[in-house]
Amino acid sequence: MSLPEPTVSQLAAPVSSVWGVGEERAKLLARLDIFTIEDLLLHKPRRYEDRRKFLPIRDLKPDEAATVRGKIIAAGIKRFKKGMRAMFECVFDDGTARLHCRWWQAQSWMPDWYVVGREFLIFGKLDDDKKPRTFKHPETELVEPGDDEFIHVNRIVPVHPLTEGLTARVMRSLIWRALEKFEKEIAEPDIKLDLKIFPERSNAVRMIHFPEELTDVEIARQRLALDEYVALQFQIQSRRKKFEALSKALPCSGDNRLMKPFLAALGFKLTAAQTNVLKEIRADMSGKHPMRRLLQGDVGSGKTAVAACSALMALESGFNVALMAPTEILAEQHFRNFTKWFEPLGVKVALQTGSRKSGEDGGLQMEDGKRVRPSILNSPSSIFVGTHALFTAGFDLPKLGLVIIDEQHKFGVAQRETLVRKGNYPHLLVMTATPIPRTLGLTLYGDLDVSVIDEMPGGRGAIKTFVRTTEKLPKVFDFIREKISGGRQAYIVYPRVEVADTDKDIKAVTKEFENVQRALNGFKIGLLHGRIKPAEKEKTMADFRANKIQALVATSLIEVGVDVPNATVMLIENAEHFGLAQLHQLRGRIGRGAHESFCILVSDAQHPEAQARLKILEETNDGFKIAEADLKLRGPGELLGQQQSGLPNLRFGNLAEDLNLIRQARELVAKNL
Ligand code: ADP
Ligand code: MG
Repeated sequence: MSLPEPTVSQLAAPVSSVWGVGEERAKLLARLDIFTIEDLLLHKPRRYEDRRKFLPIRDLKPDEAATVRGKIIAAGIKRFKKGMRAMFECVFDDGTARLHCRWWQAQSWMPDWYVVGREFLIFGKLDDDKKPRTFKHPETELVEPGDDEFIHVNRIVPVHPLTEGLTARVMRSLIWRALEKFEKEIAEPDIKLDLKIFPERSNAVRMIHFPEELTDVEIARQRLALDEYVALQFQIQSRRKKFEALSKALPCSGDNRLMKPFLAALGFKLTAAQTNVLKEIRADMSGKHPMRRLLQGDVGSGKTAVAACSALMALESGFNVALMAPTEILAEQHFRNFTKWFEPLGVKVALQTGSRKSGEDGGLQMEDGKRVRPSILNSPSSIFVGTHALFTAGFDLPKLGLVIIDEQHKFGVAQRETLVRKGNYPHLLVMTATPIPRTLGLTLYGDLDVSVIDEMPGGRGAIKTFVRTTEKLPKVFDFIREKISGGRQAYIVYPRVEVADTDKDIKAVTKEFENVQRALNGFKIGLLHGRIKPAEKEKTMADFRANKIQALVATSLIEVGVDVPNATVMLIENAEHFGLAQLHQLRGRIGRGAHESFCILVSDAQHPEAQARLKILEETNDGFKIAEADLKLRGPGELLGQQQSGLPNLRFGNLAEDLNLIRQARELVAKNL
C-alpha cells in the first residue's frame, strides 16, 4: 500500500516546473517576486492591448495611444551633433504609412533586435500631427510566427510588469502555459462565495490575463480582490476571537456618581453624537469581553470629552485609567484638562512623559523601583496621562480598567497589541482624528468596533480656506497683522526645521522665524519645532495659550490635538509638501472658537495634481471626504504616513475603491468563522 499523495497544492511548486523556465529565467522571475507557480499565475498585468484589430498607421491620431503592426524598412543609430547621445531610430511600414520610432538612449542590443524585414507590434502615441509620424520610446513586441501566435495577437493581450531580459511575449507565453497546465489546481477557498455573482477563482485567474472583453478584467479583479479581503478578514477576525476567548471583561460601566457632577461643571452640553458614542462605550464596558473600540471624530469634534466620560465610568467602578497621547505637548494638554475636570471630583491625575513627571517625586511605578508615589497608587482610583513612556517604563498599573489611546495612527497595530496584553486586557478605546476612509478602517482596524462622532459642537465660527501663491505673501501678512491687532492669534507653518542643501525652495521655520518677526513687528512671535527642548516647548505653548504670544511659527508638530480657541488664522507655506489629511489636521487647529477662522495655503506648485489637491481643501471641511480624496490621489501608504505599519500587501485589492468588497468579505467571514 502506498502513502496518499501529499495534499499541498501544486501551485506552491517552484516556478521552474513551468515548461520554459530554466535557471536563468527563474532568476529573472525572482526579481519580480515570482517564485512559485501561484506567484506567476497571480502576476497582475499592468495593462492590456486589444490586438483583435490593428490601427492603420495612416489613421494614428495625436495623444491617442494605439497598437500598430509594421515591418522595419530602415533602422540605425543616429547622432544629431558630435558628442551628443546616440539615438536609435527605426522606420516601420504597414502598407498604409510609415512610422518613425525613436529611443533617445541607444542600447547595444538594439541593432541586433530591430533588423530590417522583421515585423513588430508597436504600442505608443504621437505627440503631434507633424510628419514624419513619430513615436518616442514605444513598447514593441516582435511578431514571431509560431504555434503560440494565437496567444499574442487576434485577442486582447495582457502586458505584464517585466524586468530586463524578460520580454512581454515570453512572460505572456509562460503564464499561458502555466494556466494550461495548472488551471484546474486553482481551488475555491474554504469560505465559499456565491458563484452566481462571482466567477470561479480559476476562471478569474484566466480572465485577468486573457479576457474575452476588456470589461472582463474588472470582473476578474473583483473576484481575486475579494479572495484577498476574505483572507485578511479571516486573520483579523480569528485574532479577535482568540482574544475574546482569552480575556474576561472587567465590569466598568460606572454608576454616574462622578459623571453627574462632571457634566454639570463642564460648561457645555454634549452633542447628540457624543452622547450616542458614550452609550456604545458604556454597553461595551459592561459586556462580556473587554471593549475594543475605535473612536473616529474629525478634529474639534470633542473626542476629549468622550474620553473623559469613558474614564469616569471606569473610575466610578473602582478601576484606574491610562490615557496615552502621541506627543508630550498633547499629553501635557490632556493632563491640564483632566486635572481641571477631575481633581474637584477627588480623582488623582498623574503625568508621565519622557521628560516630565507630575508631583514632587514623580508619578508612576517604574521598573527600576524608583518613582513610586504611594499617595497616588493607594488612592481609590486614578488616571495616568502620558506619552508612550507610560508603557515602555515597566507597565505596572494596578487595577487598570481602561486604556485610552489618543491619535491612534501614530502608534502601530503591533504596539497596540503589546499594550493590551501587558495591561492584562483592560478595556481599550482608541481615538483618531485622521478620518480613516471606511475601506482602510475595515482592513486595518477590522478587529475594532468603530464609533464615529459625525457632528461638530455648535457655536463655532466657520473656517474659510484660500490657496495663494507666494507672490501674495505680503498681502497675507497684512491680513494676519490685522487679525492679531484685533486680538486673535495665528499659526504659521513651514515644512522643515532647517533649510536643506538639496532643496532650498522648501521653507524652514528656523530661517522664516526672523522674516515673520519682521513682517509682524510689534507682536510677540513664538517658535516651535521638534528640536526645541520640551520645557521650552511647553513654555511657548503656555504663552501662546495665554495670548502672550500672538503668532506661533511651527512645523507640523502642532498638527495633533493642540487646542487654542482664540487662534483663528492658519498660514501654511509650501503647502504642497504636506499630505491632504495632514493639512486638514493642521487646519483643525483653528475654527475652535466663536470667531470666524481663516486658513491660507501658500503654494507655487505648478503640477495640476498638486493644485487639484489643494483645491479640495478650499472646497470642503469634511475630513472623510478629504481622506477619501487623498486615498484616491496618493494611495494608502501615503495617506497614513510612514508610521503606519500593517498595511496589507494586496495584488488585486484597491483600498481606494473596494468598500463593498471589503464589507462582503467581512460578512462572509463572520458567518463562516
Ligand atoms: P478633538 O476631537 O479634536 O480632540 P477636542 O476634544 O479637543 O476635539 O474638542 C475641541 C474643543 O471643543 C474643546 O475646546 C472642547 O472643550 C470643545 N467641546 C467639546 N465638546 C463640546 C460640546 N459638546 N459643545 C461645545 N464645545 C465642545
Ligand atoms: Mg484631540
